Amino acid sequence: FSALQSTDPEIADVVLGELDRLRGGLQLIASENLTSPAVLAAIGSTLSNKYAEGYPGRRYYGGCEEVDKAEEIGIERAKELFGAEHANLQPHSGANANLAVYAAFCKPGDTVLAMDLKQGGHLTHGSKVSFSGKWFNPVPYGVDKDTELIDYDQVRELALEHRPKMIVAGATAYPRLFDFAAFREIADEVGAILWVDAAHFIGLVAGKAIPSPVPYADVVSFTTHKVLRGPRGGMIVSRAEHAKALDKAVFPFSQGGPLMHNVAAKAVALKEAASPEYQSYAAQVVANAVALAKGLESEGMRPVSGGTDTHLALIDLRPIGVTGAEAEARTGAAKITLNKNAIPYDPAPPMTASGIRIGSPAVTTQGMTETDMAEIARLIGRAVRAERGTDSGDAELASVAGAVADLVAANPAYPRG
Ligand code: PLP
Repeated sequence: FSALQSTDPEIADVVLGELDRLRGGLQLIASENLTSPAVLAAIGSTLSNKYAEGYPGRRYYGGCEEVDKAEEIGIERAKELFGAEHANLQPHSGANANLAVYAAFCKPGDTVLAMDLKQGGHLTHGSKVSFSGKWFNPVPYGVDKDTELIDYDQVRELALEHRPKMIVAGATAYPRLFDFAAFREIADEVGAILWVDAAHFIGLVAGKAIPSPVPYADVVSFTTHKVLRGPRGGMIVSRAEHAKALDKAVFPFSQGGPLMHNVAAKAVALKEAASPEYQSYAAQVVANAVALAKGLESEGMRPVSGGTDTHLALIDLRPIGVTGAEAEARTGAAKITLNKNAIPYDPAPPMTASGIRIGSPAVTTQGMTETDMAEIARLIGRAVRAERGTDSGDAELASVAGAVADLVAANPAYPRG
């Protein structure tokens, strides 16, 4: 770091500023986490220099003997951890992994049945602003208006009507478990590929806190930087029969040289995720999310679907008359970082939104438990009601920020030394 400080003090200050931000507040964004120093060391290594187009033992460049080892170790760890027949660690991101899945199984114009973006799906599941909606023919399914759970009868009816090439199970803002067996049955009934986009919850699968999609799906894609707590990036695991098509779809179809420092960091994260400590972590992530949802309910807000089975909760703020955008700004002013989020059948536009999404991965990494979650819920309850720009509101937000400082001092992110 001293080299960065002497060469480029401006950027060094940004790095330190971000570290201060992480240490000084609560990170409740459901898709974020705090990677270990070991993962950071691999990301910041000389492996970043190496061109390694191709796969271990079949590269288009010389000098790959060391990076080959990292990728081979990572592939074996992924196969072992997830019980998968094949693994590809090269996707640069979750969206890249998903692009490769489409490329492996679909042609432009093919029909893909996926969760509606407005009800929790991801951009790459058929949004018109993404390649997935421009190049393919998405048919969206949603959640039941009353239960706010996936309506499997609707999924089946849509599958029978539209005969999709591929069915996607996965979301960015669905707090409940997916019924992979039900999806498999529907996919088999119409002869579709079953793709699980496990970006959000794969870390809970790795830690054995929730059931695995791997035995049911043809292919599972995911990001490595959420609950899994690895470097930013994507990964794909699949049945052996799809290995060749998927590998070709990653390289050379949609990517060039892999980021070997990130591939090595993914291997490190997979080793960490195979440990008993990580299993305790994953169980605590779920316990904390449940406690947060309950606490926010006590504060007068409404957890969508009544709660959560995972690391995230979606909270309807309409009962307290605050929008998602207001809540995000107010909690942000009190050093609590979370995001506004549309709720199913949201009457508000996306940039306003009626809800917030909260997640427990980062605060759990800091060692916080259910009692801390109860306190965090109380602090959120105070912050979301405090009107910025008024004397009393600003004083309340400053008071909440003080309580946040006490909480993070007791459970620091990246402890000094
Ligand atoms: N798939 C799902 C379900 C996601 O939630 C996300 C990101 O949040 C992605 C894919 C895309 O990942 P990335 O941001 O790494 O491209």
